[in-house]
Amino acid sequence: MTLVVATTNRHKLGEIARILDGLDCAVESISAHASAVAPQETGRTFAENARLKARYYGRLVPHLTVADDSGLEVDGLDGEPGVRSARFGGPTYPEKFDLIYGRLRARAALGSPARFVCAVAAVEGGRVVFEAAGTIEGRIADRPAGDGGFGYDPIFFYPPFGCTLAEVSAERKAAVSHRGRAFRKLRDFLVSRVYS
Ligand code: IMP
Repeated sequence: MTLVVATTNRHKLGEIARILDGLDCAVESISAHASAVAPQETGRTFAENARLKARYYGRLVPHLTVADDSGLEVDGLDGEPGVRSARFGGPTYPEKFDLIYGRLRARAALGSPARFVCAVAAVEGGRVVFEAAGTIEGRIADRPAGDGGFGYDPIFFYPPFGCTLAEVSAERKAAVSHRGRAFRKLRDFLVSRVYS
């Protein structure tokens, strides 16, 4: 079986491939199959955007195609950046971090609870055949720390680890992360398909 992952983000792809490792299934990036302009992520929720991306890319390949939409929700910012996580603030993460810390300071909400959310959808023959979501609860770190992971990891403090997600290995992150939780459900779905 071939599973096409509809992301060009190599960090995400690496995390996903690691979670699905060992399955009797070739995990391939959409970029190996099709070059298409990315769709506008117009959904109001992570689940809507995951479905939208899976349907869009699923039309381009004859394989089971999975897409995810993920991001950071900060309680002290009324859930922002949320579905706008990739586009929020400036083009670089230090700029995004400055904006988050600035706004939290203005609201006296430094250290706000926050979570990463990941919604996953898989499409086959034009139909959504699988959907799942995963979350990880933490808080905004006192200051950015660590150079592992990607995106907002340096400002996401995970209390059970006592550090940010950018300060742990990819394996430790995947064991608890929103993406790990959502894609392990996909893994169970794929296993049940192969053996049913
Ligand atoms: P997407 O590619 O539209 O799903 O955008 C997701 C964005 O959310 C990424 O570009 C990051 O800014 C952020 N994000 C999602 N997952 C993670 C993560 O595991 N760590 C850090 N940032 C993340």
